[in-house]
This record gives sequence, C-alpha cells and structure tokens, in this order.
Amino acid sequence: MSDTIRMVDLRGQYDKIKTDIDNAIHDVLDNTTFIGGEHVRHFESQLSEYLSCPHTISCANGTDALQIALMALQLHPGDEVIVPSFTYVASAEVIALLGLTPVMVDVDPATFNTTAELIAPAITPRTRAIIPVHLFGQSCDMEPILDLARAHHLYIVEDNAQAIGADYLFSDGHRAMTGTMGDIGCTSFFPSKNLGCYGDGGALFAADPDLATRIRMIANHGQAEKYHHSIVGCNSRLDALQAAILEVKLRHIKSYIAARREAACRYNRLLASTPLILPIEHPRSSHVYHQYTVQVPDGQRDALRQYLADHQIPSMVYYPLPLHHQKAFLSVGRAATPLPVTEQLCTQVLSLPMHTELTSDQQQTIAETIIDFYSKNGHKQ
Ligand SMILES: *Cc1c(COP(=O)(O)O)cnc(C)c1O
Repeated sequence: MSDTIRMVDLRGQYDKIKTDIDNAIHDVLDNTTFIGGEHVRHFESQLSEYLSCPHTISCANGTDALQIALMALQLHPGDEVIVPSFTYVASAEVIALLGLTPVMVDVDPATFNTTAELIAPAITPRTRAIIPVHLFGQSCDMEPILDLARAHHLYIVEDNAQAIGADYLFSDGHRAMTGTMGDIGCTSFFPSKNLGCYGDGGALFAADPDLATRIRMIANHGQAEKYHHSIVGCNSRLDALQAAILEVKLRHIKSYIAARREAACRYNRLLASTPLILPIEHPRSSHVYHQYTVQVPDGQRDALRQYLADHQIPSMVYYPLPLHHQKAFLSVGRAATPLPVTEQLCTQVLSLPMHTELTSDQQQTIAETIIDFYSKNGHKQ
C-alpha cells in the first residue's frame, strides 16, 4: 500500500533513481572489479569535494571508521576518551574494544548534543581524545569544543554518522561541514542514514596527509605496499557495488536534505499546538534531520507511542537506555558525573517518521493522531 507510513522509505527513494542505480550496479557486474577500483576512488573524491575535505578514506561501516580513527591516533590502553552517554552504542563500543576507557558525559536537552561545558569537568590527566557525536542531524557547538581540546592537547574524532551534509558556523564567519572540523571525522553509509548505501559502508575524513595515509594503511591490513605490513591494521573496505550506489545517491544529497528539512518544518507547524517539545536548531548549525525527535512530557511517551502504533504509525525511541547504564560498559567505562539530562531524555524522546519520501498528507495523519491522543488523554500538568 503506497500510503503506508514508514520510519524510512528506502523503496520509494529507490524507485525515483532506479535507472541510475541499476546502471551503476550493472557497470560493476560488467567490470567484475568488486573490491577497490574506479568507483571507490571516484566516490571518495566526490565526497571529499562535497565536504571540502582533503582526504576521504572509505571503509566497511561506521563502527569500523570510529575504531580505525582511534587506532590511527595511537592511544594506549587505559587512556580515556570522552563520549556522550546519549548516543548509539558504536560511539563508545570502539573505545572499550581497544582497551581505552570511555568516560561518558551529559548532553544539552535542547539539541541532544554534548557541549564544551559538559565535557570540561570530565577531563583528567589520562584523557586523550573527545568523540563529539552530531546526533540526529545537527552539529555540536564545535568552536568551544575545539578550543577546549586545543587547550588540553586532546584529539577530536567527530562521529558524523547522523549528520553528513550539516555545517557549522564559526564566530569568524566561516562555515565547515560536520566531520571535517576535528582531527578525524567518521561516518556511516548504513541504508537508513542520510547518505545510505544498500548494505554496509563507512568513511573517515582527515585534513592531515600523514594521518590520512596512516588511516588508509590501517584499513588495509597496515600495508602501504602489498604484503609489507608496517603497522597492525584490519580489513575494512567499502565494496565497489556500494561505492557505485553511493556515487548516484551523493548526486541527490542536497535535494534529500531539502526534503528532510521541509518535512521537519511541516512537523513544526502541525505539532506547534501540542504539549510535545519540538526539536530546536542550534543557531550555529544547519540541521539535516536524520531524525525528527520530539520530547513527550509528563511520562506519556510510551502511551503515545502505543497509540500511534494502534493507528499504524511507526515511531522509535532513540535511545531507551543510556550507555553508562548498559551492562557492557559497567566495568569498562564510567559516567564522568551524574547525567540527569541523558536519564530524562531516555524516558521522553520519541522519533517520528522522517525520510525523503514523507508526504504532507502522511504528516497530516501523524499530527492528527497525536492531537487525538492528547484530546483523549489530556495533558497532565
Ligand atoms: C549508525 C551509527 C554508527 C555506526 O555505523 P554503522 O555503519 O552501523 O557501523 C555510529 N555512530 C552513530 C551515532 C550512528 O548513528
């Protein structure tokens, strides 16, 4: 049924670019260069151009990108890496995997992103790096974070899995794309991400040529020359089919971002009269709305979610359990301080359907259902 409301509509998006995608796939099949080759090189250079970033190194997925970034920075077991607790597990998992200590910090309730003020008290003599996560599609307030990192000689690895295409305005008037402001930027091409392939994929961004070389070597078994391994690396590559698909989709990224922003604007208008706390755009960041995430006050989140489900409207909770409470991290990481905002957000966030094919009729239906919920359940004060 074409008017089924989905969290993400990859089929509808594919239908609109089917000829180009199918041709790209057949080109790879005809050439049989399935690993490496022209499509991978070309996609990396196109992405570098789009982001105004000197070096793009593709890899197998976004989690690998984060892991390779930390490997490239040559951190040592016991070194601490600061990361928000309110994020996807991958941001902190790779820290622990490498024997480093994730130190988790809180986020700003208005933007869901961590800030320099929240990071500063978490810095100790063992801190080596910060992983700011540009959550749900907008940039962290990076200038104060970069200043803080510089003052304490810390590396910055941006987790840009959710915000590719967003940019940030510095106080001197220049803008920079998310993923290109720190030492290394990481992204994911998981199908539902804003620039998604049809399988797994990821990439790293770096301005420093030596760091970029090191990243490329690590992703390729630590070798610069075949069968000569000078550092311990891993096997992490974007395959040619995914690169060919991404070349096509990258050509549409501006219109995809525009469609998401339009949908967010419509939600803002349609939901303005409800008790929901709507997402706020930081004045220094553009927002690419990977998610449209509202806060449902008064403990009504799960009831609203059920009501929507009863009316065939999907929604998701990103994220129900903060990382500092996850069993996996209890013995290997720690919260820097109490994290009251993270705790509260986990009980009241709700992400509504958001994708490039969402229609105003569908959004009207979603909004009316939410308004109905409140007219039946009242707004407990
Ligand atoms: C999706 C995501 C990742 C991991 O990407 P994969 O390609 O799934 O490994 C990392 N961090 C954040 C914030 C993400 O949303």
